[in-house]
Order: sequence, then structure tokens, then C-alpha cells
Amino acid sequence: MPTDREPLIHVEHLQKSFGDHEVLKDINADIYAGEVVAIIGPSGCGKSTFLRSINLLEKPTGGSISFEGVDVLDKSTNVNKLREKIGMVFQQFNLFPNMTVKKNIMLAPVKLKKMTEEEASVKADQLLARIGLSDKADVHPSKLSGGQQQRIAIARALAMNPDVMLFDEPTSALDPEMVGEVLLLIKDLVKDDMTMIIVTHEMGFAREIADRVFFINDGVIAEENTPAELFGNPQNERLKDFLSKVL
Ligand code: ADP
Ligand code: MG
Repeated sequence: MPTDREPLIHVEHLQKSFGDHEVLKDINADIYAGEVVAIIGPSGCGKSTFLRSINLLEKPTGGSISFEGVDVLDKSTNVNKLREKIGMVFQQFNLFPNMTVKKNIMLAPVKLKKMTEEEASVKADQLLARIGLSDKADVHPSKLSGGQQQRIAIARALAMNPDVMLFDEPTSALDPEMVGEVLLLIKDLVKDDMTMIIVTHEMGFAREIADRVFFINDGVIAEENTPAELFGNPQNERLKDFLSKVL
């Protein structure tokens, strides 16, 4: 990635401990607009903690994060404004069960006064068409498959026109036959040059869509490289061991 421009996200010496359990020890990373970064690593290594630190769902215990040049950890930073720019998709879809699919997608932009009800409605219709679920606008999430619910969760995050999308194992809770439709949708976002950070155990997918892959181990990014290099020619012993188990 070009280094002649400012990164969208700049992470320096990031640390996060829960009590005396030091999960993130020293994370350093630059993520540029339009990049797709996949994060891999053993369960419990801190992938979610790292992702959640970026929009302050976890409060780091040390280091710094800047987002679009703004110091995320500065007391004067408006966390809600920050989160408006950062779409997040979780393993569990977290849709609001008491609302229709379309209302789920419209809620945040209207509530946060980013759009009028009408604008949000138009946007929701566009997103539903894009994800191929226009006919489900008025049903409740519980009537839908896991794959459909996750596609709607992605649409809901996109409704805010975020500058970056964070995905935390978006397919891990899905039955195998539904993984493909969600990966296909994420792949489609690559075409829009959406900046994305994706924690995933789908190595084939990471290899296919990521510009760079980060391997987190023992609280640091132990190796980062293009997918071809990282998967084809891993250097770190723990990465070699990890890949031998998951590939
Ligand atoms: P990963 O996503 O890589 O599987 P996590 O970031 O979820 O790992 O968790 C990293 C470590 O931090 C784990 O040991 C987990 O138990 C611990 N952890 C995560 N969240 C909390 C929390 N809220 N309180 C205490 N420990 C936590
Ligand atoms: Mg996790």
C-alpha cells in the first residue's frame, strides 16, 4: 500500500489488559483507505479485542489509535461521532427482534439524525435490493435464515455510509451452507473500495480478498504480509504451526 498518504487508522503500541491478563501487548498497524485487511490468529489471541478497541467498545489500557487523523483516546473525542463512521458486524447478528428488517436498517441513520425518515427508507430499499432481500423488508428477523440475518446486519451497518467496516468472524455462527452468501456479499463490497478489517477463520476467503493479512499471536502482530506471502511463505514459527492446523 502507498505510504505517501495518511493512514485511515493508525495504531501505535496498543495495549489492553483485563485485570492482570495482558491480552494486547504492543499492537502497531496502519490501515489505509480502500484496503482490505484480514486478521487471523488462534482463538483467544485478542482479535476481537483489537477490533473492538478501534471503536472503543473496549477501552485500551495503553498506546494510541488515530482514526482519520483524530486521536480516538483523547478525552475530547466524541465517541458517538466516531462510531458513526465505523460500521461493525458481529458473529451474532444482533438484529433488533421486535422490528422489521427494513426498520432495522433505517433505525440508526434516523435516530442519529443522519437522514430523514424518507431518505433512510430510500437507502434501506437500495440496500435490500443490493443484498437480494427486497421481498423481506417487512418481515421480522426471526423469520429469516442466519445467512439472511447476517446480510441484513451488514446492510444495517452500511446504511450509515461508514468509512470503514469491521467484521468480527461474520460467518462463524452460520450453518456451512450459509457461509457462501455472506462471503459473497462482503466480496461485493471490495468492488466499492470499502475499507474493511475482517477477523476470519475462512483462510481461503482471506487469501482471496485481503490486501494484507495480520497474524496476531501473544499480544502482537507477529507477522503481516500479502496473503500470497503470508500463506505461501510464512516466517513466524507460531504462524506456521497455526496454518498447519487450519489449512
Ligand atoms: P479472539 O477474538 O482472538 O478469540 P478475544 O479478543 O475475544 O480473542 O479475547 C482475548 C482474551 O481476552 C481471551 O483470553 C478472553 O478471555 C479475554 N477477554 C476478552 N474480553 C474480556 C472481558 N470483557 N473481560 C475479561 N477477559 C476478556
Ligand atoms: Mg473473537
